[in-house]
Formats: sequence, structure tokens, C-alpha cells
Amino acid sequence: MTTTLGIDAERPLFPHPVIAIDGPAGAGKSTVARALAQRLAFFLLDTGAIYRSLALLADQQGISWADGPRLGELAATLPIRFGRGDEDGAVFLAGEPVTTAIRTPEVSLGASQVSAHPEVRAMLLELQRQLARSGPCVVEGRDIGTVVLPDAPLKIFLTASPEVRAARRQKELTARGVKTDAEATLREQQERDRRDLTRATAPLKCADDAVLYDTSERSLDQVIDELVGIAKQRLGL
Ligand code: C5P
Repeated sequence: MTTTLGIDAERPLFPHPVIAIDGPAGAGKSTVARALAQRLAFFLLDTGAIYRSLALLADQQGISWADGPRLGELAATLPIRFGRGDEDGAVFLAGEPVTTAIRTPEVSLGASQVSAHPEVRAMLLELQRQLARSGPCVVEGRDIGTVVLPDAPLKIFLTASPEVRAARRQKELTARGVKTDAEATLREQQERDRRDLTRATAPLKCADDAVLYDTSERSLDQVIDELVGIAKQRLGL
């Protein structure tokens, strides 16, 4: 809808800086997004946590991850809250902390399945936009630069080779005490990649105006330094 001022009311406008970060699982998105948010003192919006929380809640309520219409209804009133300040990084579902519970391989698979339903994506769109409007933020996901925030002033698409991604994921899961083997991690990643890339609604793809950045051969410090530099230049910080 276009207003008399010629402003498209359905497209978000940003009174503050926003960085959209997209890319496949294991490209380093979460780590990079968190570090970037910290360095710039921005809020981090981890949209994957929203899909994960929905998968967890559906499981708790006995709703199948294949049931698009019922998941859509559940998504419409998803009682999720992201911690700020002292609770930074924490995720709450109906007031209960689910920060760790949403990170298991089982919930990863559930998130990947629930996120493929158009009803779910449509319901969660406005929630993500509202959260992104709350202040300077780094928004991390799969379709942020293409669908959720197409007007984001800076979009970054992170990639890495499949082997590097699976190895990182494995290390991350082990560090968190989640028991899994390398082969299973690679298999799970391939399955999630396939679903993210081929779903009809908002598939994972690099926005035309995104900075494409391969993290395979770079250290985390190198990646962060370069991206902070790009952000400062592009956003005039
Ligand atoms: O990023 P993370 O691995 O936590 O995301 C969990 C799942 O949620 C992904 O595998 C993907 O299928 C889905 N997702 C999505 N769109 C987003 C963020 C996550 O489809 N913006």
C-alpha cells in the first residue's frame, strides 16, 4: 500500500542502522552476528531462534512439524521474548528460558521443517520486522536481506565450504555438551541446506545487493575486523 506521501507502508523504514546477515547453517553466522553486534553495541536478533522456539512449542503441544495450518496458528501468538542487558543472548518462551533447549539437533531438524511452511513464514514476518524496528540491530537468518528486511542498509551473505561448515558445527555442538558424531552432523547439515534452498517460500539466497563473504579461509578475528570496517563505512558509523 502506498500512502499519499509516496511511502510504501508495508515496507519497513529504518530510523536506525540495521545489518542483515544471511547464509547457510555453519557459515559462522551466529558467531559473526554476535561479535558484530557486540562490537557495534547493536541488539542481536537471531531469527533462527524464533523458528526453533516454534518447533519446540509445537513438540510440547503435540503438534506435528508437518502440520502447516496448525503451526501457522501457533506462530500467530508465539510467546517469545529475547533477553536484553543482563539477559543478553537468552531466549524465553512463555516466560521460561529455552536458550539451551532450542539448540539440540532434534530441534534443529524441527526448525528446518516448520520453517518450510508458508503459513509459518507469513505469520512470523511481522514479528521479525517489529523486533528489528526496536533499535540498532544485527538481524541474522536465511531470508532477512531478501524478504524480511529488503530495505536493510547493509546486507551480508556469509558462506563457507560444506566441510568447513560441518566441522564448525560439530565443534560448537561438542562444546555445548551435545553428543553427536561428525558424519551425523554433516548429514543433518546437508538435509537442512537442501530444505532451505529448495523450499517454495523464501528460499535461502543471496540478495542482489548483499556483500558476499566467504569465511572458509579466514579466522574469526579477521572476519569481524573486516565486517566491522564495512559496516562503519556503509552505515556511516
Ligand atoms: O539459524 P538456525 O540454524 O538457528 O535456524 C534454524 C532453522 O530455521 C534453519 O535450518 C532454517 O530452516 C530456519 N530459518 C529460516 N529462516 C530464518 C532463520 C532460520 O528458515 N530467517
